[in-house]
Amino acid sequence: MRLKDKVALITGGGRGIGATTAFLFAEEGARVGIVDLREEGLKEVAAEATQKGFQFKTFVGDVSKKAEIEGVMESLVQELGRIDVLVNNAGIAISRPFLEKSVEDWVKTLEVNLIGVFLCSQAAAPYMLQQKSGKIINISSIRGIDHCGREGIMDYSASKGAVINLTKTMAKELAPYINVNTVAPGHTNTEMTKSLPEEVRRNMIEGSYLKRLAEPEDIARAILFLASNDADFITGQILLVDGGFSLK
Ligand code: NAP
Repeated sequence: MRLKDKVALITGGGRGIGATTAFLFAEEGARVGIVDLREEGLKEVAAEATQKGFQFKTFVGDVSKKAEIEGVMESLVQELGRIDVLVNNAGIAISRPFLEKSVEDWVKTLEVNLIGVFLCSQAAAPYMLQQKSGKIINISSIRGIDHCGREGIMDYSASKGAVINLTKTMAKELAPYINVNTVAPGHTNTEMTKSLPEEVRRNMIEGSYLKRLAEPEDIARAILFLASNDADFITGQILLVDGGFSLK
């Protein structure tokens, strides 16, 4: 019960890594809120939670819209009394070759993957500072590591690199009360990778020294570590969970 009585909000919790993290947090004693764009995914996750004996608070909201996210945070704190852990997990990737990449692709990607992290953190921080405690975990990507950006998603790679930089700056500015860290997943078995051509998925597995994709649980366990008291003296760090992919 490493998160006993903690209140956590997970963005992009309607499926994938976010939903898996929500279940793991609940199993570890947390009271959990999830926010996502679509009500459908939220309902499915909440129904599964109920079956497992947990009650999730669900919020439809866009992480890139300041007013929506402030409203979500206010409702969460009103309903559950506080916020101890924020997981900035919502993210998108738009795959298009460099010469076809548009300004719209760039703006959308940066709005969700980077400014979304900023807005959600800015909405949570006042409550955490008032409590004099809090943990923020930002989800970057192996593609955000300096030499690991990928063709076709240069905007995604840049946004995830910027999340690492933002994490370090936030860790300084929100110290000593809020720990801010990053988890950078390698290729993970979710909707985001399921739609990729088989050859690309095969190359991803070959590129990993552990010779498999990550399962969402692999990533969720790293997020749990950084959210728990075990990581009380860790801030501004990046935890790579990539089966050794970045060693190449
Ligand atoms: P996923 O299966 O695509 O799930 C992402 C969730 O975020 C979806 O439910 C999506 O909603 C939601 N979302 C998207 N934009 C949003 C917004 N503006 N506001 C609120 N929610 C939004 O992705 P995943 O694979 O679990 O990835 C989770 C995080 O890990 C992302 O940040 C991703 O970049 C990162 N990551 C993933 C991998 C991987 O291989 N899967 C590798 C490295 C890093 P919709 O369903 O409506 O789009």
